[in-house]
Amino acid sequence: MKPDTYFDNPVHPVSLKLWPRLNGEKLRAWDGADLLLLEHIAEQDASTEQDAADQPATLVLNDPNGALTLPLLAAGVKVHASGDSWLAQKALLTNAEDNDLATDTLSWSWPDEEVAQPIARVLIRLPKSLSLFESQLATIAGTLPEGTQVIVSSMDKHTPPSVMKILEKYFLSVEHGLGRRKAHLYFAQLGHQTAQQRTAPAVFAIPALQGKEICAQPGTFSGDKLDIGARFFSEHVPSDVAGNIADLGCGNGVIGLVALDRNPEASVWFCDESAQAVSSAKTNTAALYPKRECSFHHGNGLDGLAETFSLILLNPPFHRGHAVDEGVSSMLFKHARRHLNSDGELYVIGNRHLKYNLPLRKLFGSVREVAANDKFTIWAAKF
Ligand code: SAM
Repeated sequence: MKPDTYFDNPVHPVSLKLWPRLNGEKLRAWDGADLLLLEHIAEQDASTEQDAADQPATLVLNDPNGALTLPLLAAGVKVHASGDSWLAQKALLTNAEDNDLATDTLSWSWPDEEVAQPIARVLIRLPKSLSLFESQLATIAGTLPEGTQVIVSSMDKHTPPSVMKILEKYFLSVEHGLGRRKAHLYFAQLGHQTAQQRTAPAVFAIPALQGKEICAQPGTFSGDKLDIGARFFSEHVPSDVAGNIADLGCGNGVIGLVALDRNPEASVWFCDESAQAVSSAKTNTAALYPKRECSFHHGNGLDGLAETFSLILLNPPFHRGHAVDEGVSSMLFKHARRHLNSDGELYVIGNRHLKYNLPLRKLFGSVREVAANDKFTIWAAKF
């Protein structure tokens, strides 16, 4: 069944879809936490005349498809949106276009960029990564004025018990509202004693790089440690490859770094839709391989690249947001097929139960098992 796309809410109804727009989409582009927050905002704003031209902006963080930003824009509220996800920004802009909404009162920043001021209030969808959440709170607490109101909204099933404690580290008068729609709102205010430094990236050693250390910005896949799948994958990255190699969905860049290490003739592309991932990969290549040729692509898979590759290395995501979803891995396999040299190879690692060999066989002439352990299988596909 197709998901509902009409998001009826008391600020301004809008039509919403996820991006990328995949065939057979099953996921809806908003949830109870979006609706609960908009119900609160509708009450708060009922008494205020909105004239976007001369009002300070509402800062909206981590809005995956524009479910908070677009109703506000449609109601005449100026919005500064910020987040880590390129796909979320693309969903926001595509949905704005579909709703014929002008975006001249909308601005955007990535996590490492300045927020355009002045800001009247801050609305946050709790992100999956608590380290990204903390780094965002530290930035807000360090840059916005005392008294600024902060409201966090989250589905109860995705809210860890530590959320109040985290908020209390950065803000004053932290409290939560009554639960409704299987979600809660958390309210807080900036105080003058809450100024914070930016959160430092995590640092950890990589065995396949002879113990060299890499860093990971808050919010990158696997957080402050090496993922066990990535560790296994790193042991099987091929050597003696010339030409272009892509680390597709690079996260902190560990797999592409190993590819650089083992392939002195190759040029490596680090590609991810997460701004923090691309930033981590840039920092790691500059620190460990400053003389090597590397390129970085912040976007959807390999979309927009003209290059073809001798080797594509992929540890695909199998979630979209909190939902298990095979749509993105299937899409990335197709990107890889479009961008492989005629004699190139795609290496894919997956949890054993995901059986990536089956969709790969529909796209490639040859699919072989490279290695397996009790948790993961690595497949190599070629034309
Ligand atoms: N390669 C890293 C590793 O092995 O540790 C990270 C792998 S993680 C399972 C998948 C990565 O794919 C994440 O960093 C995620 O941000 C990225 N990703 C998800 N969807 C993407 C898309 N449509 N285009 C590019 N990257 C994407």
